[in-house]
Amino acid sequence: MTSPRTARLSQTLLLVLLLLTLESAAQPPSHREVAVTIDDLPAMDAADLDAAQITSINRKLIATLTREHVPAVGFVIEEPLYKTGETDRRIAVLNAWLDAGLDLGNHTFSHTSLNHAALKDWEDDVVQGETVTHMLLYAHGHKKLRYFRHPYLDVGPDLETRRAAEAFLTGRGYRVAPVTLDPLDWYFADLYDDARSRHDQALEPRLVAAWLTFADAVFTFEEEQSRSLLGYEPRQILLLHDTALEADHLADLLALLRRHEYAFIPLGDALEDPAYAQPDTYISDVGASWIEHWAVTRGHPIPPTAKPTLPRWVETLHDAFEKAHPD
Ligand SMILES: [Zn+2]
Repeated sequence: MTSPRTARLSQTLLLVLLLLTLESAAQPPSHREVAVTIDDLPAMDAADLDAAQITSINRKLIATLTREHVPAVGFVIEEPLYKTGETDRRIAVLNAWLDAGLDLGNHTFSHTSLNHAALKDWEDDVVQGETVTHMLLYAHGHKKLRYFRHPYLDVGPDLETRRAAEAFLTGRGYRVAPVTLDPLDWYFADLYDDARSRHDQALEPRLVAAWLTFADAVFTFEEEQSRSLLGYEPRQILLLHDTALEADHLADLLALLRRHEYAFIPLGDALEDPAYAQPDTYISDVGASWIEHWAVTRGHPIPPTAKPTLPRWVETLHDAFEKAHPD
């Protein structure tokens, strides 16, 4: 027979166990997964680079991805392929991605924002962006063009346009490639290129260190946001760009991800995570991580002040760089 005291004790024990279980659901996991995506192939600043520079950047990127066994997807903008006298060599860069067993997706022909173009014009830009990539994929074992990445992560100016664009993409056989981890490499990449062109050998490593510290903060932040929002950390999707910064330092970023216990998985595997099937009604002038999409959809937008901030000196440098290079 159970005494009232023993009953109370076992009730308390049950409560403690329940709390421990709930607590452990929100604990950081010891194993994480991430799909790596790289935007703006054949190179982020392809208009300002020659074919030799573009080839060099991509050769290094592909070598790192291959050595580290990272099944990345590169998202192509086809317009910069058409440079007089260089088209063959620029297309060869994309071919090298596929030869290495990596995948390619569509990032529109001319990097058109769905937030700032008419839907029909944007759709035309999607279709025009398929030509070369589709042909190259087909030549590599009849592979299909499966993934689409929105330029600037702009998913549409209103929900009606967003849904119409998604239906259009689905109709052409695409899945939208979301982003959950964005360490803003493009922001640092401009400054890195500038430091290199000025042979500023002191600034170069300072920028790389600042970027990796910022990336570390972003990863930790999005992992915490995932746990508090979803109760677990989904298979994440990382956004990087085809730049000299990544060509030279992607291995450092991958090492950081490994310190966060990440294993590298194909984008298709990441998309099987149920997180990517949950309601998402995000609409804004500015593109954002899908973790922000989900937070906004649930009525709990992430306060800007809670997010990791760029070092002030990097922002100052970037402001000066933008003034000197308006486009
Ligand atoms: Zn882009």
